[in-house]
Amino acid sequence: MNRRSLFIEAASRGKILANKCKKCNYSTLETVYFCEKCSSDVFITEEYAGLGNVVTFTIQSVAPEGFTDAGSYAWVVFKVDGAPFNVSGFLKGIHAPSDLPIGSKVQVTGFDEKHGLLLKRV
Ligand SMILES: [Zn+2]
Repeated sequence: MNRRSLFIEAASRGKILANKCKKCNYSTLETVYFCEKCSSDVFITEEYAGLGNVVTFTIQSVAPEGFTDAGSYAWVVFKVDGAPFNVSGFLKGIHAPSDLPIGSKVQVTGFDEKHGLLLKRV
């Protein structure tokens, strides 16, 4: 399986796959090919619980293609528990900023081919 497939497979189990650089220990998402810090391509795979706290989000009042069934969506950036990076994903049912206070807990529920990680509130 390629890296993208591995990442999607992990997301379907509610996990986030990451790469830790063997050279400098910098951790990034599984989907990167070279370390952003030192350009090494030798990684150790790490798996995180796909759970974290909302850092920021943007409400999409017009649902993206493929999400027309569920009304408003938020494009959410969240800090992954125990990981040194943020991840973004889609959370449905968010109509106003008050629906999702910063710091809310979200969980990865799966992956959409077009839009990326799918989230739910926990
Ligand atoms: Zn590195």
